[in-house]
Amino acid sequence: MMVVMDKQTITFVKKERVADGTMAFFFTKPDGFTYKPGQYIELTLINPKETDDEGDARVFSLVSTPKHEYLEVAIRMRDSAFKRCLGNLKESEEILLDGPFGAFLLHQDTNKRAVFLVGGIGITPIMSMVRSAEEEKIKRPMTLVLSTRTLGDAPFLSELHEKKENKIMDLLHTVTNEEVSGQDLEHGYISSDMLKKNLTDIDTCIFYVVGPPAMVRAMNKVLEELEVSPDNIKMEEFAGYEKEKGRTE
Ligand SMILES: Cc1cc2nc3c(=O)[nH]c(=O)nc-3n(C[C@H](O)[C@H](O)[C@H](O)COP(=O)(O)OP(=O)(O)OC[C@H]3O[C@@H](n4cnc5c(N)ncnc54)[C@H](O)[C@@H]3O)c2cc1C
Repeated sequence: MMVVMDKQTITFVKKERVADGTMAFFFTKPDGFTYKPGQYIELTLINPKETDDEGDARVFSLVSTPKHEYLEVAIRMRDSAFKRCLGNLKESEEILLDGPFGAFLLHQDTNKRAVFLVGGIGITPIMSMVRSAEEEKIKRPMTLVLSTRTLGDAPFLSELHEKKENKIMDLLHTVTNEEVSGQDLEHGYISSDMLKKNLTDIDTCIFYVVGPPAMVRAMNKVLEELEVSPDNIKMEEFAGYEKEKGRTE
């Protein structure tokens, strides 16, 4: 296997649609490559046909678990040079891998509820965490509060409902830009009232906030209103979506 600096070459295996405008990409996993659920990797295109001001590399949280055969990432496919090139990868084409990086990891104390406050594509590191908890048969209280613009925007929605049915976690899905109704469905942004209504043990929960920067900032305010101690909050900002105007979930 070719090694460039500390980057490793991996090959593209396949891609799958996981929501409107969102694709999962699968790559081979180098021998001995290990990571923890919640960590992210950097992918660098090799001799891309086009490039832009942001360069040829981007970071993505892994949605696969360490036990999965392939490295899987899920990406909002918009119109950047990087994403056009990635979307055009053919089976067995190579790309460079660096990482894993990050300390956005589940807390050790399995008695304390993990509450995931997620904006849209921010679901990616949480997927790895809940998939891994199910795989490892770890019983721990987890609640996912997922905010998306539309129902169709929500990545991995049927798998998330399955996890809820299997009692891996509780699920509350709130949709901001279309009217929805149904069990476990809310309308509007995640608010302190919504959390108070749905969580009984706020003082002892550990909150994981992840999504585009505007969403993370908004959740900071919500958690401040609830007087959650900063010690009980972990954040992962998907910088790169900062240039968007307003909120994106
Ligand atoms: C720790 C970390 C983890 C991350 N994990 C992920 C992840 O798992 N998945 C993921 O997708 N990203 C993730 N990101 C973000 C990722 O690294 C990129 O920064 C992000 O995807 C933006 O990609 P891009 O620069 O190619 O531009 P994009 O913003 O995707 O595309 C730019 C182009 O899209 C168009 N555009 C801009 N705004 C809009 C809009 N509102 N609607 C439609 N089109 C628009 C414009 O033409 C613009 O030129 C993560 C970032 C960090 C820091």
